[in-house]
Amino acid sequence: MARYRIATIEGDGIGPEVTQAAMAVLAEACGASTLAFEMLEGGAGHYVKSGAVLPEDTFAGCRDADAILHGAAGLPGVVYPDGTEVGNDLHLRLRFRLDLYANVRPIKLLPGVLSPLRAFEGGGIDYVVVRENTEGLYASRGAGVVLRDEIASDSLVVTRKGTERVARFAFDLAARRSGAPRDGRRRVTVCDKANILRSYAFFRRICDEVHAGYPDIAIDYAYADAITVHMLKRPDFYDVIVAENMFGDIISDLGAATVGGMGISPSGEIGDGHALFQGAHGSAPDIAGQNAASPVATILSGAMMLRWLGDRKGDASLGAAADRVEAAVATTLREGRAVPRDLGGRASCTEVTEAVRRALA
Ligand code: ATP
Ligand code: MG
Repeated sequence: MARYRIATIEGDGIGPEVTQAAMAVLAEACGASTLAFEMLEGGAGHYVKSGAVLPEDTFAGCRDADAILHGAAGLPGVVYPDGTEVGNDLHLRLRFRLDLYANVRPIKLLPGVLSPLRAFEGGGIDYVVVRENTEGLYASRGAGVVLRDEIASDSLVVTRKGTERVARFAFDLAARRSGAPRDGRRRVTVCDKANILRSYAFFRRICDEVHAGYPDIAIDYAYADAITVHMLKRPDFYDVIVAENMFGDIISDLGAATVGGMGISPSGEIGDGHALFQGAHGSAPDIAGQNAASPVATILSGAMMLRWLGDRKGDASLGAAADRVEAAVATTLREGRAVPRDLGGRASCTEVTEAVRRALA
């Protein structure tokens, strides 16, 4: 009997290819009997077949599993009867029903990977964006209004509870993170526009209140516009950045671009009882089914999953397996054994996966 149940949803586009890749690597790293991948249906393609984006048995499987591994969801042109896009609704529904409030996006430049920030290729980009995942401006989704075809509006909602829990998550993460920013100081940077909007000033104030419980960690603040400049000019300053939903979405994509792009950037969506892991990219339908996608983002998301699960279950062997997966990816890319196409190489999805597996062995 496997020890941990992993609810696994391949999803759409390149989802199946990158999910299979991650499953193969994780099984190699943990030993075949550690993880049981329970394959579940869902996504835009499944909606076309069955009329359900997130079938109830898939939801129940995710709720009852130890962790969730997801490929990607969304297909262009698949719409609900009212004309709105199905997109990655699978994953949005899971996010809200399982209350996955912290979207964690590590931004780390691996040796051997080309960055548009040449000066940092020797090291220095290693921070984490924690995006609030359940409120902020995006909570207005579906609730905005257009008046007389003249004025459109959406509302930005920031709550004490929502901000406290994501801020606590960010400080807890900073407290146990390894890898140090340039000056060695553990730090949480609050990204907002507190100078313009009351909701952001409130967000900042709540972060300050939470910070009072973490005297060993520094806090600093950056306006969302200014941080886009700093992330390019001095990315080595950052340790953990906490941001409202929309700002976190935007700056984490910017951060991903500085370390090799979406195909290499992992993500985790974490709540108090559940967590879902997937690459930061979407379903990339333009390259689906061609064995051309990079599996690296999903493999590294799998390593994040092992670490999260290991902490939760008090099983140090999972954290050690996560370290081995990350080291195997780093070796594969650094030595140019198999470089995916989006990083300038020629290796297929399966070739990268095989190279990472061999590096593990
Ligand atoms: P979403 O709306 O779900 O965020 P998106 O429209 O932002 O998706 P993605 O699917 O993330 O778009 O990717 C944009 C493009 O980047 C893809 O069309 C593809 O060409 C490339 N891409 C994304 N992920 C990968 C990957 N894993 N490997 C290689 N190329 C990728
Ligand atoms: Mg996107």
